[in-house]
Amino acid sequence: MKVCVVGSGGREHVLARVLGRHAEVVVTPGNPGIPGSSPVPPGALDADLVVVGPEAPLVAGLADELRAAGRLVLGPGADGARLEGSKAWMKDLVAAAGVPTARHASFDEEKPAVDYLRSLPPPYVVKTDGLAAGKGVLVTGSFDEAVDDVRAKLGGHSFGAAGHTVVVEEGMVGPELSLLAVCDGTRAVPLAPAQDYKRVGDGDTGPNTGGMGAYSPVPMLGADVVGTVMDRCVEPTLAELRRRGIDYRGVLYAGLMLTGEGPKLVEYNVRFGDPEAQVVLPRLITDLAALLAEAAAGRLVSEPRFADDAAVTVVLATDGYPTGPRTGDAIDGIAAAEAEGADVYCAGVARDGHGRLVTAGGRVLDVTAHGPTVADARSRAYRAASCISWPGVHYRTDIAWEAAHT
Ligand code: AMP
Repeated sequence: MKVCVVGSGGREHVLARVLGRHAEVVVTPGNPGIPGSSPVPPGALDADLVVVGPEAPLVAGLADELRAAGRLVLGPGADGARLEGSKAWMKDLVAAAGVPTARHASFDEEKPAVDYLRSLPPPYVVKTDGLAAGKGVLVTGSFDEAVDDVRAKLGGHSFGAAGHTVVVEEGMVGPELSLLAVCDGTRAVPLAPAQDYKRVGDGDTGPNTGGMGAYSPVPMLGADVVGTVMDRCVEPTLAELRRRGIDYRGVLYAGLMLTGEGPKLVEYNVRFGDPEAQVVLPRLITDLAALLAEAAAGRLVSEPRFADDAAVTVVLATDGYPTGPRTGDAIDGIAAAEAEGADVYCAGVARDGHGRLVTAGGRVLDVTAHGPTVADARSRAYRAASCISWPGVHYRTDIAWEAAHT
């Protein structure tokens, strides 16, 4: 089978690596660190299956375009991608489906938004309605900061058009969990659970990012949590999508909070998580290309099975990420990190005039290691990460700490 992966980050690198176990893979546009990258657009590439990595082309209707041209595509059309493209639409759909989630309301004017904030206890949560690369969410204990954020978002100062509607939510408390399900329009199968880290700094400090690390499996998870999330969140959502005439063939990523009242939905993403894919997909024993092709064709029969190991990913970012990343610095030590037994997935990288790999984005590399336990995988990942350097490289030092110490 020939598979075309659309995208250019660490998620696409790991997709290519794992799909490559059973299929021939090309990544478009990819990046200089991903073997098999091609500048040829997906519609012009010869492929039996197209897997769309990022959310933006899905929201813009790339899957519809490719399907109309007769391609087999893993990824929802623009209709289903609204689950991620509009938080207000998503909240409306999950309310109709009866999925447990935070109390919320959407606003495009400041005064009612501030009045609603006043009616909620802290922590306060203010989100842009549209896409903001994981950075459009403020969670704060400060009422004044929440009000300032509503003003900045609605005024178009912080996120442009994506912020012209804001969603104000009740703050939930509890550990977070990411559960990715592969859907064929009717049936959904869960992948192994993972936990990711959204804040830039140790101890969950600083602003939200696209994701600074992840691990899988999640050892402290009760045995019934995956089943509960499938029953209460994923299945009813898929049924509600179907009821609205939406044939959702792709990955449905449920971001959850494990509250005292059970798992509650924080958000849906309409694609593999980045960096969750880096810890979940390499652990898959099942043929990923066959699984995704079945889902894309609306005939999901495979059951994903996972190795009995653990994986930890540490994201190496540039100085200044997520606000103003500094780029163009030469990256040293990837081979040394790989010699420690880690896999290094390339995200924000480019080649300079001397052919050297240099930093080109906020999140640059994802250092992933495996081991029999989360503790083993974690120490390998950090040993490997310490081999890599460029001026201002930074990463969290507490990825998977809690899981490794339980
Ligand atoms: P989202 O982009 O909606 O996933 O939000 C990004 C992150 O903000 C989540 O992973 C949570 O850490 C946090 N967050 C979002 N919504 C809430 C909420 N209602 N209560 C507490 N934290 C939240």
